Amino acid sequence: MFGKNKAKPRPALRRVRTTAAPRPLRHRLPAAAVEEIPFHAGDGLRIGLTRIDTGQPDRPAVLLLHGHTASADMFLAPEIRNLVDVLLDNGYEPWLLDWRGSCRLPYNETGKRYTYDDVALHDIPAAVAHIRGRIGDRPLFAVAHCIGSIALSMSMAAGLVPDLAGVVSQGVFLTPKLAGRMALRMSLAGELMKSRFDHIPIDFRKVGLRSKYTPLFALASRGASCPDPTCQILHNSAWGMGVSLFVHENLTDTTHDHLADLLGPAPMWIMPHLRRMALAHTAVRWHDTDHRYRALPVNALDAADRIDTRVLLMAGTENGLWGDSQKTCHQLLTRRHPHLDVSYLEIPGYGHLDTFLGRGAALDVFGHIIDFLDKQDVG
Ligand SMILES: [Zn+2]
Repeated sequence: MFGKNKAKPRPALRRVRTTAAPRPLRHRLPAAAVEEIPFHAGDGLRIGLTRIDTGQPDRPAVLLLHGHTASADMFLAPEIRNLVDVLLDNGYEPWLLDWRGSCRLPYNETGKRYTYDDVALHDIPAAVAHIRGRIGDRPLFAVAHCIGSIALSMSMAAGLVPDLAGVVSQGVFLTPKLAGRMALRMSLAGELMKSRFDHIPIDFRKVGLRSKYTPLFALASRGASCPDPTCQILHNSAWGMGVSLFVHENLTDTTHDHLADLLGPAPMWIMPHLRRMALAHTAVRWHDTDHRYRALPVNALDAADRIDTRVLLMAGTENGLWGDSQKTCHQLLTRRHPHLDVSYLEIPGYGHLDTFLGRGAALDVFGHIIDFLDKQDVG
């Protein structure tokens, strides 16, 4: 038959970013105010560090740490009054780290694999040291989300980031405890997927209609009320793991349409470390025998005595990913380490990601953060 032997069109080559510089930030600040620093982690890896220049050299600095597969963009979303806006208006100097799990960087998809040990040992301490070099003896705070917060808790318990002026942790800190359904899926789906997939994509448009990922998107779409495949993967399924990352109606339409830019593919090879933490219910080191990681405690909760700053543990009441991890963390820390200054705050009606990306986050969430920072500043 005519055309039968016609060569099939070649599939387009998958584009892999090999450039070292992070993808441009999405923001609406004056370009001159955004200082992107060519920055390397302690082990030499090119990561991202951004300073928002206010022209006022006496402001306390605040380091913002995104969650895994997100990026500094999650604090700069132009369509809402974002955390950077609120920090700027309240007299602070924001610094944004894109640690190696950022979707602005290529490492989740290509390059050397890593664990959260690397983030806690190489990324966060190097960023803190760099910022300190720039700000001198001004106070330095940290606000951290999800895995960024777990990694920070490990750096703190290791004594690698001493003398922070205060820490705000969102979603999870020293006691990662996955919500029930997710924990189960992690052990089943995680093992299965590990063999078939290197990472879980979230952008259906990039992987195409017919790919090995199609069943995953189909699974995520089951029972979904929203027709957007990226939203289904994240909202209905959390990268195929069966929980929700945000309260849907808390996002603006624009944020919803940008989910595929705000969150990147999730690497499956990180799962063993995450699972080890979820089973232990604490932030634990992955590398057991490699002496290069011995600066990190085996179990960060057991080393919580080294925490030398005030901590605000924050969580949305609808957090489908980490459940009541923050509440548990607060109970454990106040019982075991009564000298620590740890407080706990629930945000009603919020899930996980929407505590930073929600349309009303400035009103419902950021005010609490500013209150906490302002109080610290007095001392
Ligand atoms: Zn949706």
